[in-house]
Amino acid sequence: MAFEGLTGRLQSVFSKLRGKGKVSEDDVNEAMREVRLALLEADVNFKVVKDFVAKVKEKAIGKEVMESFTPGMVIIDIVNKELTELMGGSQAKLAKANKPPTVIMMAGLQGAGKTTTSGKLAKLLQKGNHRPLLVAGDIYRPAAIKQLQVLGEQIKAPVFSLGDKTSPVEIAKQGLQHAKDNNLDYVIIDTAGRLHIDEDLMEELKQIHAAVNPDEVLLVVDAMTGQDAVNVADSFNKQLELTGVVLTKLDGDTRGGAALSVKAVTGCPIKFAALGEKIDALEPFHPERMASRILGMGDMLSLIEKAQANIDADKAKEMERKMRNAEFTFDDFLEQMDQVKKLGPIDQILDMLPGMNKAKGMKDLKVDDKQMGRVEAIVKSMTRQEKSQPEIINHNRRKRIAAGSGTSLAEVNRLIKQFDEMRRMMKQFSGMMGGFGGGGGKS
Ligand code: GDP
Repeated sequence: MAFEGLTGRLQSVFSKLRGKGKVSEDDVNEAMREVRLALLEADVNFKVVKDFVAKVKEKAIGKEVMESFTPGMVIIDIVNKELTELMGGSQAKLAKANKPPTVIMMAGLQGAGKTTTSGKLAKLLQKGNHRPLLVAGDIYRPAAIKQLQVLGEQIKAPVFSLGDKTSPVEIAKQGLQHAKDNNLDYVIIDTAGRLHIDEDLMEELKQIHAAVNPDEVLLVVDAMTGQDAVNVADSFNKQLELTGVVLTKLDGDTRGGAALSVKAVTGCPIKFAALGEKIDALEPFHPERMASRILGMGDMLSLIEKAQANIDADKAKEMERKMRNAEFTFDDFLEQMDQVKKLGPIDQILDMLPGMNKAKGMKDLKVDDKQMGRVEAIVKSMTRQEKSQPEIINHNRRKRIAAGSGTSLAEVNRLIKQFDEMRRMMKQFSGMMGGFGGGGGKS
């Protein structure tokens, strides 16, 4: 998952601060030196890092922080807020035309994920009860038109194409007219990319822009390319007046530099994040949630939102309450496991839970269906009382559970340890939420 290295480093800086009853100026300086290195290593633009550290330092060295009872926590909160600001502060929403259709022009280099993202965006709009039209304007990349048509078929969205012999400007114009004629309320225009920025490409994009006057010009950039992505965004923005950036491939092991620098360098907000190749792997970008994810505080809100979309709403609410109050029992665990399977790849879900990437043992926990089955067997071998009061499960009980479930004592021990760790992290996190008026952000 993205940001792993950065999260780990920041957490180790903060764990030193967290325990302290008093924090001296030297402590802050030392911590900020480490934060600076961590950010640079994550490939964040050096100027952005410099400004960021200066801002945090200025706030952290204030009297209130030094004299607070939990200075370490206050500093983490400052960093959280500044990271959020760095990524734009609050969610930048997709524009909506006063009079439909809303026209969205997609731009980006070849391979950044433009065509895939066009399809994903159409799907996201459909979920909001909109009727998007996909326009196949990339006539140069072999198979780009076909790719868009396949995506359209998959989500049952219309695709407008005039083949590869008509100019992209004409295709865009006629596509827009087609949307108007057919009462479609969003037009997503896929455009051609190049391996590098060149004049022909920019000229063509400018002409399309002039022809359809888009409400949104979204630049799709590959987060894996780090600073290059930021430079690409900067160059495009100088010529095309972007309205937003879509960061793709955040599911890979990007170090985070692009996500943290792009807004500060270009002034252009990140509007969406793509986290996989599948059609529904696109999410609106929430700076505050991303910040808490980077800090390893998990992304409870995204998880809960995901849960609410896929799971029984009452159950999801109950899950949220239990997580916040750290009342989670093995019974809930079992029930959630079924629900959780519906949410998507398990490692992505674990990433969203607070402390998961830090929790010992969790990091290496590869959960596949077979293992889920074993975990299920262990939990089912517990008595009712054991499930609701896991703390009573002593050595003898563990041996019995292992025998009953056909697993080993080591496996039972591991599961209980992981469960304890998870509960502890949830408790810690909800403490922070309470203490700072919502560390997970608002929305
Ligand atoms: P385009 O040239 O910009 O239109 O790029 P494509 O949409 O064809 O995407 C290039 C490749 O990147 C394809 O193999 C996509 O499946 C892949 N891709 C796009 N977005 C993501 C993403 O968020 N995560 C991952 N892992 N792969 C992606």
